[in-house]
Amino acid sequence: MRVLLVEDHRAMRDLIADHFRSRGFVVDAVGRGDEALAATAVAGYDAVILDLGLPDMDGIEMLRRLRRGGEGTDPPALILTARDSVKDRVVGLDAGADDYILKPFDLAELEARLRAVLRRPGARREALYTCGDLTFDSASRTAAVAGGSLDLTRREASVLEELIRAAGRVVVKDALEDRIYGFDDDVSGNALEASVSRLRRKLAAAGSAACIEVTRGIGYRLQPRPQT
Ligand code: CA
Repeated sequence: MRVLLVEDHRAMRDLIADHFRSRGFVVDAVGRGDEALAATAVAGYDAVILDLGLPDMDGIEMLRRLRRGGEGTDPPALILTARDSVKDRVVGLDAGADDYILKPFDLAELEARLRAVLRRPGARREALYTCGDLTFDSASRTAAVAGGSLDLTRREASVLEELIRAAGRVVVKDALEDRIYGFDDDVSGNALEASVSRLRRKLAAAGSAACIEVTRGIGYRLQPRPQT
């Protein structure tokens, strides 16, 4: 799950980003509205966490521009704000915010509210995905083969999440990289291939009926192993 965090207060931004990264999210963290709009122009996000008071534009204005932008990207937006007047909330909701969190807030509450926004109708996330005997729970970020849990690294879990969401279809390599790496991630040339091959070995070792088919130079497809 890839999240864009827009917050100009450095310590607050680091705190939120670290929390969500530790929970398995890919987080791009920026401090300005123009940086946020530039990021949404080139990357797809599952959600945006947005501070209202930004140095270069109001968060509401940024959200309006994001909603107008088209590009097929319309991620749910969760607003962080110290402004608690009813008027400000209405303006934010009119501009396309999905929820509000008043500062100061608890990180656990922010995470719970974000997950709630991601679960709403229209949000593309479901809780549980399956492919053959393989399941992936996107809330707990755990995978299981025939009910037995599969031990995955955070990155492997992110790869599996993207592949199982598109089970049966080829996921193009560039698109997969876009989903699982943030701008700040230091990605070596074959990092994705390495994650995918570890994931394939783990699925095989667990005796799963699901396997990842590699189409060299194009991408990957997760599908139930053909019956022999
Ligand atoms: Ca601010």
